[in-house]
Amino acid sequence: MSIKQNLTTIVQSLPDWVTLVAVSKTKPIADIEQAYEEGQRIFGENRVQEMTDKWHALPKDIEWHMIGHLQRNKVKYMAEYVTLIHGVDSPRLLKEINKQAKKHQRTISCLLQVHIAEEDTKFGFDERELLELVDNEEFKAYEHIKIKGLMGMATFTDDKEQIRREFKSLSLLYKQLKNKYHDFNILSMGMSGDYDIAIEEGSTMVRIGSSIFGSRN
Ligand SMILES: *Cc1c(COP(=O)(O)O)cnc(C)c1O
Repeated sequence: MSIKQNLTTIVQSLPDWVTLVAVSKTKPIADIEQAYEEGQRIFGENRVQEMTDKWHALPKDIEWHMIGHLQRNKVKYMAEYVTLIHGVDSPRLLKEINKQAKKHQRTISCLLQVHIAEEDTKFGFDERELLELVDNEEFKAYEHIKIKGLMGMATFTDDKEQIRREFKSLSLLYKQLKNKYHDFNILSMGMSGDYDIAIEEGSTMVRIGSSIFGSRN
């Protein structure tokens, strides 16, 4: 199957309230161009340097999403153009994003990453930290970021019920916060292997790489 066929099949299968982030990390510019020709405009990357190189090389109507774990000292390299940062997992990172966005007179949209997986290798806030953060006065005063919702990754397992439980817990948290914070309208959950379950559990944004571009080395 070609990139174009894969993409078309996936796009047609998504409900219209679900946004597709095509995860192009490690893939060459030519692959992204194929997806672009099919109309895809949102791409996800997990390394700032690679994303910045691609941003320079490709049409400027592409929205670039940072989906990976992010170090504070890298924020400055993408503050000029990044559209959405999915993996915000500390108050210090949020502060840095606000600072760099201000330099470019921009407002950068962010998602708070929540730790839902049983594995402890995945980054993110736990529920208590999250609730503390969104009520924090310093955080509310940041004018150059907009917290648009939550992001999470399920455990890498074949146990579909476990994946569903983890997505359900994130979805519940999202709904609670959405009642209180009206900017909340994105729940980023679901990858190639589990996006169907994620959508059933309320995802509004899926991050799909290998099912579009093929497996990575
Ligand atoms: C790589 C990656 C994806 C895409 O994974 P696939 O299994 O290739 O769809 C999604 N989200 C994050 C955070 C990733 O790092």
